[in-house]
Amino acid sequence: DQVRVSRALLSVSDKTGLVDFARALDARGIALVSTGGTHRALQEAGLPVTEVADLTGFPEMMDGRVKTLHPAVHGGLLAIRDNPEHQAALAAHGIGAIDLLVVNLYPFEATIAADKPEADCIENIDVGGPAMIRAAAKNHADVAVVTDVSDYATVLAALEQNNGALGGDLRRQLAQKAFARTAAYDSAIANWMAVQFGTEAPGQFRAFGGTLAQSLRYGENPHQSAAFYRAPGKVRAGVATARQLQGKELSYNNFNDTDAAYECVAEFDPSRAAAVAIIKHANPCGVSEGASLLEAYERALACDPTSAFGGIVALNRTLDAEAARKIVEIFTEVIIAPDATPEAAAIVAAKKNLRLLLAGSLPDPRAPGETVRTLSGGLLIQGRDAVVVDDMPLKVVTKRAPSEAESADLRFAYRVAKHVKSNAIVYAKGGATVGIGAGQMSRVDSSRIAAWKAAEGAKRLGLAESLAVGSVVASDAFFPFADGLLAAAEAGATAVIQPGGSMRDAEVIAAADEAGLAMVFTGHRHFRH
Ligand code: 5GP
Repeated sequence: DQVRVSRALLSVSDKTGLVDFARALDARGIALVSTGGTHRALQEAGLPVTEVADLTGFPEMMDGRVKTLHPAVHGGLLAIRDNPEHQAALAAHGIGAIDLLVVNLYPFEATIAADKPEADCIENIDVGGPAMIRAAAKNHADVAVVTDVSDYATVLAALEQNNGALGGDLRRQLAQKAFARTAAYDSAIANWMAVQFGTEAPGQFRAFGGTLAQSLRYGENPHQSAAFYRAPGKVRAGVATARQLQGKELSYNNFNDTDAAYECVAEFDPSRAAAVAIIKHANPCGVSEGASLLEAYERALACDPTSAFGGIVALNRTLDAEAARKIVEIFTEVIIAPDATPEAAAIVAAKKNLRLLLAGSLPDPRAPGETVRTLSGGLLIQGRDAVVVDDMPLKVVTKRAPSEAESADLRFAYRVAKHVKSNAIVYAKGGATVGIGAGQMSRVDSSRIAAWKAAEGAKRLGLAESLAVGSVVASDAFFPFADGLLAAAEAGATAVIQPGGSMRDAEVIAAADEAGLAMVFTGHRHFRH
């Protein structure tokens, strides 16, 4: 199952490690062939190398669009070695077999990520490269294909070990990787075109490619396998782009929860106030704004300290020392922030397992994008919930309009409710949550849980009155009946924010007026399932 390597074709855009790799191949007596730029680099390094143009008898033309698309190349890659007809064809046309192909593609992904003009993006669609990669990977029985610079060392070690040959296991592994690479590459092109040309339409195939960023020990549960794939092209700031400063590897659940935490805290403009979101099982268990991160953290924690244990803490500003000192007091899985001061990072460093992720910036909550979920036999794709309460035409529907303080809290509570699994009920006061009810099948149950949490919070603080007293309440969808609203009034809420749009809106508004509540309709639902 060994393939002896006599001739290699190298054609790479990313020339990292190229010369050393080629030198080692040359030292093994392997003949080198390559395209224009690669040829130049090898020649400058003093290596004997043939240009592809000499093989094909054609110059590279049309700005490099046509370089290797020729039978002299593809015949050499695709010929089956023990097929007499194939061998006769090679001989009849004077084509030499190619045993090793080394290609990395035009940097299409980097070009779109840099927001280059459309013409540049188009020019960076590699045609000959993927064609060669696919040919070599198809013919992996006789050819080895290298598409990743980080595999050079593996290939050299294998050649050394097998006396100039490459084994079947390695060739099959490289072939699979090669097709994964061309698939991700084409996905990036298709997705970019869908946005660039606005061609998304029913029946249109939308590709979702990605590159394996991290194999995970297991999925949601230990008996499930899992991996994290990074989407190609430009991605929103967040877990996928964050630098992990320290701590254990992120688990599947960590990725999921950290993403939820950072998206939630990104709703809060850092130039207005510091904000902290503490997340457990993808639901916020406390969110707060504050004059400082420390204050915001302490108030977020106070909402539900029991649930916050082992949670994810997301911050909207650079983590500072005083906040770090407080956060490390209890067991926390992950901290994510745009940045951290050196002093704060040093404080976190004392907790070896605690992960600290620095994302560089906050994602824009209004940015377009999509979410994907699998179901049996397909994918469900939707646009992100990119609408924010500041952009909603809020309508006061009760006799009493909310006070300025109530208005601020209503907006705050609605921002949080967007990030709570449905049915979501959020009580808030003074820019902090005081009770969150999440994920219940009935809105009334979510209301009850939220009110109960606010009552528990008061007990913890030794207060006679529930924290819900004088609070506002947000509901992610309309109250279908007056009962949920009345429960909120009973708990002590003085103002309500909800989408409206129920058949019984009139009834619900009358009940609110009766109870002296102020209520605003947003016209936008925030279901999150
Ligand atoms: P070089 O720097 O050697 O001139 O070009 C290397 C790049 O050209 C590689 O990324 C390779 O995938 C790409 N390439 C090789 N053959 C062709 C071809 O026929 N057409 C196009 N568009 N790209 C090619």
